[in-house]
Amino acid sequence: MASTPSRIGVVALQGDFAVHRERLRKLGVSAPLVREPQDITGLDGIIIPGGESSTMTRLGWENGLWAEVRERAGRGLAVMGTCAGVIMLASEIIGEPEEVRPLGLLDIAVQRNAYGSQVDSFESELTLDFGDTGIAFRGVFIRAPKICRMGNRVEVIARHGGDPVFVSHRRVWGLTFHPELAPTLEVHRRFVRLARES
Ligand code: GLN
Repeated sequence: MASTPSRIGVVALQGDFAVHRERLRKLGVSAPLVREPQDITGLDGIIIPGGESSTMTRLGWENGLWAEVRERAGRGLAVMGTCAGVIMLASEIIGEPEEVRPLGLLDIAVQRNAYGSQVDSFESELTLDFGDTGIAFRGVFIRAPKICRMGNRVEVIARHGGDPVFVSHRRVWGLTFHPELAPTLEVHRRFVRLARES
């Protein structure tokens, strides 16, 4: 397994999937697009991109994709959700609960569009803590959600102004920002490594 190339799918129901795919390809990773439950077969990891979580909710529950992601994650599929993607991974949505039905793969409560209209997009220099040395990484936040509560087994990899913005539990990562829009590939490189460790 370790010597075979990783296969990481990018959920392409809607949103920013093309840039994630290009970033993975720069790392030499095959990055098939995932739209249907059967597209997950043979993948080591999957990325749920930013976009619009209410639209993703509708499309992915209707065609069985989210049920399949949830089932495969339970059997070790590595999952990274970014922005709308972390909303989809949450266990609870604060406000507008009828708009979004999340997968419950991370024990977190998130509030959508939590930074308000004036500053709904901003960039911030983050420090990623993967347990070794801290890594500087440019966080691009676009109508970002906030993680308002997390279970005690969820780990924090980065914070912005005290709030967790990158969390993980086992093989599931949730980021409130857009790592695919940063100048470096560090988050994708680490995710590829995680997926390979299956
Ligand atoms: N505000 C969007 C949502 O709630 C997320 C924004 C994004 O993914 N850039 O789905």
